[in-house]
Amino acid sequence: MSSDLHMHTTYSDGRLTPEKLVAAAKEAHLNYIAITDHDTVDGIRHLYEQNIYPSKTINIIPGIEFSCEVDGHDVHILGYDFDIYNQDMADKVNEIAESRWARLSVMIKKINELGYDISEGDVLEIAGSSSSIGRLHVARALVNKKIFSTMHEVFDTLLEHGKPAYIPHYRIEPEEAVALIRRAGGKSVLAHPKLIKDDALVEKVLSLGFDGLEVFYPKHDATETAKYIRMAEKYGLMLTGGSDYHALSSRYPENLGEFTIEDKYAIPFFNPPESLE
Ligand SMILES: [Zn+2]
Ligand SMILES: [Zn+2]
Repeated sequence: MSSDLHMHTTYSDGRLTPEKLVAAAKEAHLNYIAITDHDTVDGIRHLYEQNIYPSKTINIIPGIEFSCEVDGHDVHILGYDFDIYNQDMADKVNEIAESRWARLSVMIKKINELGYDISEGDVLEIAGSSSSIGRLHVARALVNKKIFSTMHEVFDTLLEHGKPAYIPHYRIEPEEAVALIRRAGGKSVLAHPKLIKDDALVEKVLSLGFDGLEVFYPKHDATETAKYIRMAEKYGLMLTGGSDYHALSSRYPENLGEFTIEDKYAIPFFNPPESLE
């Protein structure tokens, strides 16, 4: 049996609803999974409210992925196995969501001024249940309206850092994310260190007191994985990993189960919810 501790649903920028994601994970014979939507726990809460989480047939670990920035580098922080109704976490997540709404209005206004006909409504239709509304949704809306032919073109012309409709969004500080996850009873993991693109910075960030490092990741080759395992050992961190599944045909893995980790790396993050005992 194998596991996957990094996946996104329609509550952030994934293409599958939480229900469909769980069904796909069962079909792929995954044993432990974690839903790690960007800056929200709405997906896992939804599963709880629908009586799908906790499940007797698959081990679901509550997760989240916070987007932070350190010295101009994107730093993502995963939280696992916390109380999904923790008030401090809920307050912070709401604050981030509200700032994303405000940012959307500014972004749309900019895009309109540049001569492209798109409304907030067009983007919201695409975003559906997602509360962490972002550039991907804007890009998808522009492609759907045939104003651009590819998402890549939209980013290249408008939304990439330094392009005319790029608007930075409010981000939680990494110290705050780590503390928040801990206060909610969870464990924090530094996500995909390779994507930080600066190993000295990775080590600096690790000094904030993480529990784990995401060493197994689709974009890490064997040499990089070995390097990050050594780094995790140096700092006494648990090894974790996941596919960062979005159910996008343009992004590997296209299907759940194509990139997995051994169960032994997932087990330390799983505590059976009380209602199962
Ligand atoms: Zn990430
Ligand atoms: Zn992710």
